Amino acid sequence: MKLTILGCFSATPRKDTNPTAQVLEINNHLFLIDCGEGTQVELRRNKIKFARIKHIFISHLHGDHYFGLVGLISTFRLLTRETELHIHCPKGLKEVITLQMKLADSWTNYPLFFHELTSDTSELIFEDDRVEVWTIPLDHRIYTNGFLFKEKEGERHLHMPSVIEANIDMAYYNKLKQGHDVLNNDGVLIDHKKVTLPPKPPKSYAFCSDTAYKEDIVPIIKDVDVLYHEATFLEKNAHLAPKTKHSTAKEAALIAKKANVKTLILGHYSTRYDDLNEFKLEAQTIFSSVKLARDGKQFIFD
Ligand SMILES: [Zn+2]
Repeated sequence: MKLTILGCFSATPRKDTNPTAQVLEINNHLFLIDCGEGTQVELRRNKIKFARIKHIFISHLHGDHYFGLVGLISTFRLLTRETELHIHCPKGLKEVITLQMKLADSWTNYPLFFHELTSDTSELIFEDDRVEVWTIPLDHRIYTNGFLFKEKEGERHLHMPSVIEANIDMAYYNKLKQGHDVLNNDGVLIDHKKVTLPPKPPKSYAFCSDTAYKEDIVPIIKDVDVLYHEATFLEKNAHLAPKTKHSTAKEAALIAKKANVKTLILGHYSTRYDDLNEFKLEAQTIFSSVKLARDGKQFIFD
């Protein structure tokens, strides 16, 4: 599982900082999460093969989370994309994008699907044989969802020396990987556990931005490997958090602790702060495993 931060600051783009966008590579999927202004440039700067993006998840309709989307949709057309593109987003985004396209007398030469969200409870919005994606209803000034990405358990791995020793025909390798016992060339039943290794534990990632402190997301994100939680403010400006419906670094850490996550990544910093390390120090008073998002930073979780 690999996370590339394309932008992790709130509000306006600046010379060296971008609004929210990130790419999650999980079980061979490449998911784009939010698409603030500048996302295309950052995709190129980070050498991400963005033709591989088939699903885009938009948390909410504040501009710093989606103003890059119409440009990206248009670029895909110029690149003669033919593969489907699915956009999972709050209700209303389809109207915004189609109006922009209509007034430009523009179109896409690939199928573009909008999956508009309205539910206030967590729901499964994407599933295949490799991953599941769930919404995480958040508490912000407008309708907002975070997203939970969960790998499904993979196949077992063959332990080749044991497989050969057990004299098993190649035709049965897939059955072994799927956890079935098979007959060997001498007609003896072989326990699959003796010749295979268990699959890697499935990974999970929760993206929570933008939101006020919201304890009832804890059961949804319980025990995830990685939680990205917004930390717009430091405690010294905590009075600003409730009225803007954002969180402080300390509040993000409290959520991480209650949810027993392995790693917390902080982001969505207000541009009023110069020293991001203060966010880390504040969060670490509550929860130890804290990392700071930075534009262009890659996190790899094996
Ligand atoms: Zn917002």
